[in-house]
Amino acid sequence: MNEFTVEGGALHAEKVALADIAREVGTPFYCYSRAAFEERYQTFSSIFEGTPHLLCYAMKANSNQAILTTLARLGAGMDVVSEGELRRALAAGVPGEKIVFSGVGKTEPEMAFALDAGILCFNVESEPELEHLSQVAVAKGTRARISVRVNPDVDAGTHAKISTGTYANKFGIPIDEAPRVYERAAKLPGIEITGVDMHIGSQITDLKPFDRATARLAALARQLMGQGHKLTHIDVGGGLGVVYQRDNRPPPSPHDYAQTILKHTGGLGLKLVFEHGRLLAANSGVLVTSVIYVKQGAGKRFVIVDAAMNDLIRPTLYDAYHEITTVQSPATGAKLGKVDIVGPVCESGDYLAQNRDLPPVESGDLLAVHSAGAYGAVQAGEYNTRPLIPEVLVDGERWAVVRARPSYEAMIRADIVPPWLALK
Ligand SMILES: *Cc1c(COP(=O)(O)O)cnc(C)c1O
Repeated sequence: MNEFTVEGGALHAEKVALADIAREVGTPFYCYSRAAFEERYQTFSSIFEGTPHLLCYAMKANSNQAILTTLARLGAGMDVVSEGELRRALAAGVPGEKIVFSGVGKTEPEMAFALDAGILCFNVESEPELEHLSQVAVAKGTRARISVRVNPDVDAGTHAKISTGTYANKFGIPIDEAPRVYERAAKLPGIEITGVDMHIGSQITDLKPFDRATARLAALARQLMGQGHKLTHIDVGGGLGVVYQRDNRPPPSPHDYAQTILKHTGGLGLKLVFEHGRLLAANSGVLVTSVIYVKQGAGKRFVIVDAAMNDLIRPTLYDAYHEITTVQSPATGAKLGKVDIVGPVCESGDYLAQNRDLPPVESGDLLAVHSAGAYGAVQAGEYNTRPLIPEVLVDGERWAVVRARPSYEAMIRADIVPPWLALK
């Protein structure tokens, strides 16, 4: 299933030609397919039909309100990592009881806000956090529902910057220490234990890490229940990988993933909670950009485009591969040539692709950077005073700008020159 297809020699999002959007909105822009989000959400849900479960979309992957609303209408929960994300989820109509709160640095005001919102669960990542949370809850005359996020010490075999499940990184509590931490949690007046939690990393393309880590988490849940702790759910995190490069070995299907998880959790009698982000979002969006110049360097050809690392930082930050195609299909027999596709930002790290085969392009041609729906727009910034690029949502034949490009005036006005500095 792919909602970004070529029809009549032109790349479309569902039924809308990307070139038509480009003409009206200008480039660069992100374009998302509503149907793609829905299809991925429903596929995942249907696989777990018959098993009590809740898919809490990890909204840091793509937190546009139109996307959150799309998923909220389908019944999704949300995994949030800040008060800002929690406020977005609530504004999109996600009920508090479907929201889990992850992250190593929750502040007391964030805890208080989340308690008022009646969230399903705090995924607690340290003992100091546990104590602060208890105090905040007691002050409010309530108790905070918690899971301890354990670190199962399993290497997810993914890029170092998106691996979270080994003892070498800051996330979670070592699984060996978890029973003691749960004992402590049970004695705190503001804490109500409800589950166990993990998240071992992102873009995981092999089932073995999920297998090992879920076995450990399920064993912990069993042990805790045996010791008298009342659990209601087991949160196995997110991280299932997606296809970025079509000729690579494909990541495990959600179906095979489900078999791996259920093998360990099946007999526990606990509700399953998932925190997938990329799985729903990555291939539900593209980034459309225009060629500004083609520059022949000494031995290298550069295609300079109007999107840059400030709009999509994944290639620079994670060495990520994104397929890049022309929006208008090349003439049959067009010869491919090796190019670097780079942005206008003044950094050597500013590239979208290196040593990539591309048909001949010229100034004004449109390119599509595929699989850009996750960790794209959300990580964008205004470096080089480049306006954040618009986001568009397509639904069948209709489309709408779901985040507008800011004006230069608004960007400049956001800074404040103190009166004592202003020119007379
Ligand atoms: C980022 C994150 C996720 C989502 O990861 P994906 O690879 O996008 O599925 C889930 N849980 C936590 C705690 C995260 O930090």
